[in-house]
Amino acid sequence: MHARYVDFHCHLDLYPDPEGAYRRCQADQVATLAVTTTPKAFRQNQIFGSKTDCVRVALGLHPHLAEERWTELPLFEGLLKETRYVGEVGLDAGPRFYKSLPRQTDVFRRILVLCAQQGGKILSIHSVRAASRVLDSLEELLPPNRGTAVLHWFSGSQSELRRATNLGCYFSVNQSMFEKDRGQALIKAIPPERLLTETDGPFLEDNGRPIEPGNVRGAVGALGQLLGLPHAQTQNLLLSNLTRLLE
Ligand code: MN
Repeated sequence: MHARYVDFHCHLDLYPDPEGAYRRCQADQVATLAVTTTPKAFRQNQIFGSKTDCVRVALGLHPHLAEERWTELPLFEGLLKETRYVGEVGLDAGPRFYKSLPRQTDVFRRILVLCAQQGGKILSIHSVRAASRVLDSLEELLPPNRGTAVLHWFSGSQSELRRATNLGCYFSVNQSMFEKDRGQALIKAIPPERLLTETDGPFLEDNGRPIEPGNVRGAVGALGQLLGLPHAQTQNLLLSNLTRLLE
């Protein structure tokens, strides 16, 4: 694979034409992590992914769906040995999902235990209003030598960010995060060698429309500006970070 860009968190199967979204990432040479939201979605995504060499498919159980889909945990467990990639998983303690936090926590902790048992997994993790909770579970259940966490769209505090860095986490950042000073300050505090880019498509909007799958050009441009690096050098940084993560 000759990748030019990295989109480490994209819901390719939630675009109106999922197969077209896979082809688009392939055509644009974007090393893409196709995250899924339920274990039931994994197989079909694997079929789409098998036709590309730049998209990897992650097995997920999204925290927003934990309450209605926790019964798919046995399916998750059965599929886990088929993939190195896990996501989207995590916790969301925002007002809309706060009431399902106990269930979310059970699901997330179970997934971390399974990942630690098998070893070598790379996880794309959601942590809205729950950064400390996520880090508590990671610290307890997924030692750095048993797997690697990539915190997607991180929005915690600076001290939570330092803690995540010390735990060995990577961070996938998207173009929306650069729009606010707070997001920029967080991204600036991430060690450059832990940075990846993402779209979180189709949820993230670009000029009022869902962002195109794999379109991280805005994020790469903004990141280059923040770090004072030319576009090509920023691309190289991100690609070498991905290579190290996957070693
Ligand atoms: Mn997502």
